[in-house]
Amino acid sequence: MPLVLHVDSDRWREHLRSTWNPDIVPVAKGNGYGFGNHRLLAESRAMGARTVAVGTYFEVPPDSREDVVVLSPWRPFHEIPQSKNVIHTVSRLADLVSIPAGSRVLIEVQTSMRRHGIGARELRHTMLLNALDRIRFEGWSLHFPMGPRGTSGNLREAAELGKAAQDVRRGPLWVSHVPAQKLTDIGDDVRLRMGTGLWLGDRGALTVRATVLDVHSVRRGERVGYRQRRVSGDGHILVVSGGTAHGVGLEAPTAAASVRQRAIAMAKGSLDAAGMALSPFTIEGKQRWFAEPPHMQASMLFLPSAVPPPAVGDEVGVDVRFTTTTFDRVSMN
Ligand SMILES: *Cc1c(COP(=O)(O)O)cnc(C)c1O
Repeated sequence: MPLVLHVDSDRWREHLRSTWNPDIVPVAKGNGYGFGNHRLLAESRAMGARTVAVGTYFEVPPDSREDVVVLSPWRPFHEIPQSKNVIHTVSRLADLVSIPAGSRVLIEVQTSMRRHGIGARELRHTMLLNALDRIRFEGWSLHFPMGPRGTSGNLREAAELGKAAQDVRRGPLWVSHVPAQKLTDIGDDVRLRMGTGLWLGDRGALTVRATVLDVHSVRRGERVGYRQRRVSGDGHILVVSGGTAHGVGLEAPTAAASVRQRAIAMAKGSLDAAGMALSPFTIEGKQRWFAEPPHMQASMLFLPSAVPPPAVGDEVGVDVRFTTTTFDRVSMN
């Protein structure tokens, strides 16, 4: 068995149901938050979403009945998809002039993110005002940071920028990264684009498991792996499913634990601290060390002799980032 995302589907869908409402635009992009975009679009439809958002033009589904917002701003080097359901995001004055007349457009306003967007001072630029009559204006887009200043800063900025934009042209505000309960603080026609909070909002519904593919007993000092490193003690080498092609990296996501455990390992002198990295694979409740950097589809772990090794075919837990992991299979239980 491969690297599998197990979904407690009742619990997962209960979270979707309790989170989604018609003001929320589900986002399906990239690796589909681990589930795959196709599945997320089907779930969005099942919830009753009339509009969904994708990341790039490459992700626009060919036959969507729903409206599809493309979050990455349109540029002249992007072909315009034929579908009338596509809503473009335009973030530069020059692109507002070049996008074909009649295109459905959200105008992105620059926020403290400073990623994309027309500056607040340019909202009354004649290029923008003239474009408003050429395009099919669908609203204003505002994308906020998630960082340390917290949600109150985003809410204040959303309300201010939203008002400035709506003084230019009334239309819905499409926002990201503000709390769903606070949309009325921003304005009276606000839509929230949401990915992580929706799909990954209840981590308890999700379990990732890898399979033990091989087990070998080793003695301290014996060489293993592509790099023929010496193992640091007696124990076992485990080969488990999940490698770089799945997005399994050298470092576990929990950096603090890794530093602490590394320090403990060094203090005990039990591991060759140089070059050892904590893996995201958990056996007997503990994250285990890579014996060497992960291979393309499998990883070699070192398990000290004090721990009874699992058997070939057993499953072990894995702590991965869902947005960077490609699972071999998503199992809806
Ligand atoms: C990716 C993205 C989102 C969704 O972000 P989450 O943190 O996954 O909810 C929303 N808005 C924009 C503009 C995005 O690019």
